[in-house]
Amino acid sequence: MTIAGEAIVGSDQFGVINPATGEVFANAPECSRPQLDAAMEAAAGVFESWKLDESARRTALVKCSAVIKNAISDLAPMLTREQGKPLSRAVIELKGAAKWFDYTARLEIPREVALDNDYVHVEVRRRPHGVVAAITPWNYPVSLAVWKIAPALLAGNTVVLKPSPFTPLATLKLGQLLQDVLPAGVLNVVSGCDELGAWMTKHPLVRKISFTGSVATGKLVAVAAAPDLKRVTLELGGNDPAIVLPDVDPVSVATRVFWGALENCGQVCSAIKRVYVPAEKYESFLEAMAHVASKARVGDGFDEATQIGPVNNEPQFQRITELVDDARRHGARIVAGGGRVGNHGYFYQPTVVADVGDGTRLVDEEQFGPVIPVVPYESVEDAIACANATHFGLSGSVWSSDVTRATEIAEQLECGTAWINQHLNVLPHAPFGGAKWSGIGVENGPWGLLGFTEIQTVNVAKG
Ligand code: NAD
Repeated sequence: MTIAGEAIVGSDQFGVINPATGEVFANAPECSRPQLDAAMEAAAGVFESWKLDESARRTALVKCSAVIKNAISDLAPMLTREQGKPLSRAVIELKGAAKWFDYTARLEIPREVALDNDYVHVEVRRRPHGVVAAITPWNYPVSLAVWKIAPALLAGNTVVLKPSPFTPLATLKLGQLLQDVLPAGVLNVVSGCDELGAWMTKHPLVRKISFTGSVATGKLVAVAAAPDLKRVTLELGGNDPAIVLPDVDPVSVATRVFWGALENCGQVCSAIKRVYVPAEKYESFLEAMAHVASKARVGDGFDEATQIGPVNNEPQFQRITELVDDARRHGARIVAGGGRVGNHGYFYQPTVVADVGDGTRLVDEEQFGPVIPVVPYESVEDAIACANATHFGLSGSVWSSDVTRATEIAEQLECGTAWINQHLNVLPHAPFGGAKWSGIGVENGPWGLLGFTEIQTVNVAKG
């Protein structure tokens, strides 16, 4: 771990499993309570100086980007081994993380004049919170960490970061590497089980929690934050609908819809999690999706031919199996896949499920795996109603040759991001966050940066 700029051995350790084999391949440090206190104290101590020099912080962020670029060949295999994603996708995740640092380094921390007249000059300024607790999940460990670290640091905060116990290694290594370009204590990285996350959210030195993970844990984080009124940003789960309009040729969109659902083995918060297709095009769409699924290459992330790696962990693998079995019991038709691949690791076939609808767990819940249910609809109004009939509200997409019509429909979706004729195009420039139970606040762009600041109104009397 990295605490106060030092490499620290955990008080204990835990095994990290390679999802391609199901075997423990490394041990990660388990952070004790006193070690967490030391990390928090280091972050709080250096905050007073770190917050003073915006230009130094900007320069540091550019250097962080360079550090990542130079370490891609070390970090990418580590990421593939612990997360399962194809090596080429691990490289893309790391390049993205470097790009995020570069982009964030150029953002302005705004100073706005609210009023200037004969009597007063009123300015709205932005102050950092102090110590930020950053907690990340296992699907994109490095990029989601950087979405937090970069804006938090630019705004003048200091950070204690905890990755998921399923994928701690690349994040721990990144924390170590960044010490070359950051003052000691500005970024501390600790690892451990879920309880460590709970300690962080209740820690008296933390002023802001930036959390990415499931809705269930997000609610616990909100409760933990409440007694101390810590600020929270919650980036939570999604059950994101794609609505295919009647004017679309199913074959022409099937490949893009499939990969909008199955990228990262379906383990993307904002992946397509259910597809609504006009009844008259249902069978031809299913056929096209089944064809794409049958061609998708499942395998070890180190095999160059692999497009879809294993599910990241055993509980998630069990959950996928359970949701598909439940759909089968309720009369679903499996048009592609539907079961495990091989007899070791957590490989699951790319799976397309038909004859399901609202009321089936696979449609109602977030599956977070390589399984996509396809639901027929009679009218576009019905499809919109089904898309919105959920507590989730992360993203959604509309597919049509008529962009104006598609945009009108997208505006009716109760979600944080609506895509047209694409899905999963996440950019550093655009705010990303969820409506309803999918989250509170946003990340990325100037809007994400502001989440790491508090407003101070400076009101100066004239004359
Ligand atoms: P999770 O909620 O189980 O864990 C996320 C992190 O929280 C881990 O680091 C975990 O150790 C920690 N944690 C667990 N219990 C905690 C507690 N009581 N207090 C504080 N921290 C605690 O989620 P996961 O299974 O790792 O990730 C998958 C989920 O993340 C999915 O629901 C997915 O949609 C969501 N996700 C959301 C986004 C987004 O930007 N909206 C991005 C990626 C993933």
